Amino acid sequence: MDSFDNFQYDSASSYGGAASVIDDNSSVYTANTNVRTPVDLESLSIVDDRSQTSSVSNGHAGHHHHSPHHNGTIEEDFDGVLDDLKDESAVDLPPHACSYCGIHAPASVVKCLICSKWFCNSRGNTSASHIVNHLVRAKHKEVILHAESPLGETTPECYNCGSKNVFMLGFIPAKSDTVVVLLCRQPCAAVTKDMSWNASLWAPLIDDRSFLSWLVKPPSETEQLRSRQISFNQINRLEDLWRDNANATLADLEKPGVDDEPQQILVHYEDAYQYQNIFGPLVKIEADYDKRLKESQTQTDITVRWDLGLNQKRVAWFGLPKLESGEVRLAVGDELRLRYQGELHKAWDGVGHVIKIPNNVSDEIGLELRRTEGVPSECTHNFAADFVWKSTSFDRMQLAMKTFAIDEKSVSGYIYHKLLGHELEPQAVRTQMPKRFSAPGLPELNHSQMYAVKSVLQKPISLIQGPPGTGKTVTSASIVYHLAKMNPGQVLLFV
Ligand SMILES: [Zn+2]
Ligand SMILES: [Zn+2]
Ligand SMILES: [Zn+2]
Repeated sequence: MDSFDNFQYDSASSYGGAASVIDDNSSVYTANTNVRTPVDLESLSIVDDRSQTSSVSNGHAGHHHHSPHHNGTIEEDFDGVLDDLKDESAVDLPPHACSYCGIHAPASVVKCLICSKWFCNSRGNTSASHIVNHLVRAKHKEVILHAESPLGETTPECYNCGSKNVFMLGFIPAKSDTVVVLLCRQPCAAVTKDMSWNASLWAPLIDDRSFLSWLVKPPSETEQLRSRQISFNQINRLEDLWRDNANATLADLEKPGVDDEPQQILVHYEDAYQYQNIFGPLVKIEADYDKRLKESQTQTDITVRWDLGLNQKRVAWFGLPKLESGEVRLAVGDELRLRYQGELHKAWDGVGHVIKIPNNVSDEIGLELRRTEGVPSECTHNFAADFVWKSTSFDRMQLAMKTFAIDEKSVSGYIYHKLLGHELEPQAVRTQMPKRFSAPGLPELNHSQMYAVKSVLQKPISLIQGPPGTGKTVTSASIVYHLAKMNPGQVLLFV
């Protein structure tokens, strides 16, 4: 797993849960709002009144000294802020202003090399700095510093292999004090043999979700005060907008239609119609998101090796770097469209399904094409692959909800009420427990798996959850075996 995965996981765990999302928006935001209240123009204008100076500076983020001989500095500071605040409405922000908050000190902003937008290294109202928020949300990984920053127009990259993935990059202080060397954690930092630096001192460029301050300076307090206050929620919605329209701004979030929040899910539902009314739109949003994500993952510059399957169908073998970097997932049976973009053959494209995904033997993907005619099998270079999105799993969810709503016999009364969150007496299913819970031909179950099988067999509805690798599949297979033995007939299992 690379560090980007780690990071995403990390941030997902602190952003992802409902509780922490609320935390990000409400408590942090409220705290900041309080601090910032004194900075409206009205309260600043009383700076002129000497007797009030100390109380104003007190309110102003509380970081100024109050001893009389510092008064001059305080007022200069305030005049500066005041001027800036007056300016802001009149002056347009420069192109390198943070796309979230507008901060534009050259030392504090970096440009994303993938989308060419600028972001600052301040956290604003969120737990990650704006640039890190963007890179994680957009799955971008490469940046360049501003030409007028202390380090100049520099792209952080690995000294050894040239990788620019900032989530993998770190630095090692060299023996001389003033030099650091940038190296990616894997493999370069691990294999470095140069004696002038010590690999055990390697430290990441992104620490605690922001860039190290010697690389990108956190904006000053003054700059933060005058910046646009953007919430975690607004950042997420802005990033979503950018998928369709790269030029969207915060102002576009206010436009009608954009901000239509779906209905909140409930703990209890009146009936299956209400359930469908709330979950239907959510499944649609999820499907749209999945479709956009898949369809934006075109891979170009693919080199193909052609083969003929035993069924006489054309099979294209190739590598997909995006797959290796974890940006997309692929399963056997998924569809891809392969296109020829070179000049040795007329334009061609064909759809096929994946028959092999990368494994520990080879990184190649096997794509069996639907049609054999016209395949430019004499060409090997300049191919591109698009992911073909399929709505099947989302269609099934919608259909299931519709059936649930209109067909009262689609599930038992018990399951109907259970799904809608109604209070029910616990129900036990009278069954003859098997002597052995492990099923023939399957691995032996451990204690918690055995407990799960036993408990499922005695209840009308059960939910088994566990982290990857805990044996949910073996447990389910054992359950199916016992259910099939107990009630000859059909067994329904949702996975
Ligand atoms: Zn910012
Ligand atoms: Zn970007
Ligand atoms: Zn490297």
